[in-house]
Amino acid sequence: MAGALKTQGIVLRSLRYGEADRILHLYTPDRGRIGAIAKGVRRAKSRFGGRLEPFFQLDLVLYEGRSDLLTVTSAETVAAHPRLREDAAALDGAGRACEAVARVFDEGDPHAGVYHLLANELALLDREPARAGRANALAFRLKLLLAAGFAPQLAACASCGEPEHLMGFSGAAGGVVCGACEASAFPLGQEAHDFLVTAMGRPLAEAPDASPAALAQAERAILDTLEHHGHVRLKPVGRG
Ligand SMILES: [Zn+2]
Repeated sequence: MAGALKTQGIVLRSLRYGEADRILHLYTPDRGRIGAIAKGVRRAKSRFGGRLEPFFQLDLVLYEGRSDLLTVTSAETVAAHPRLREDAAALDGAGRACEAVARVFDEGDPHAGVYHLLANELALLDREPARAGRANALAFRLKLLLAAGFAPQLAACASCGEPEHLMGFSGAAGGVVCGACEASAFPLGQEAHDFLVTAMGRPLAEAPDASPAALAQAERAILDTLEHHGHVRLKPVGRG
């Protein structure tokens, strides 16, 4: 299916290749993750300017030939996110968000919701760099689980359906579990449970905060879910 592909895309990674080229890992709304090569981009007179760096949201024209890599023929900036690049915490948050998307989704696994979620997260970190931190990063990961189709069950025991006495979380069971089913679970307190429910239900810009102890439990729940259902191990966000 050789031809031109017009699409928006967000640059997840941009790697030097050869003398003047770059290999890009992009996330697009309809194709999901794709790899592309931009030729001559590191020459002074390149028509791409500095637009092929991580976190750029672009209007792209790509040529699709027989190679696994598409070729970038045109790239126009939709959003450059200049402010997040000047704030260490926001830059770190943006890097983690792009890394999580790259790790969780293989090529050929498109989710338009993931594209919009990542675009929202980068726009938020650019608009309000002070938002960057552990609660924001966990809310992003939680919404990533939702977009990927393996959101944890939080309303009732994931093993038996019991709606009350929910006291643990089990990645293997797929969510919160009751006292009778908690054999493979770790304790999940009310505050962590509230954080998960609220962060999942609200826009990223209105994600709640919580105590470090509750965020640690919420983080464990997210990492366990990803590991059991996405078969991916992400680095913990840690204290931020
Ligand atoms: Zn149960």
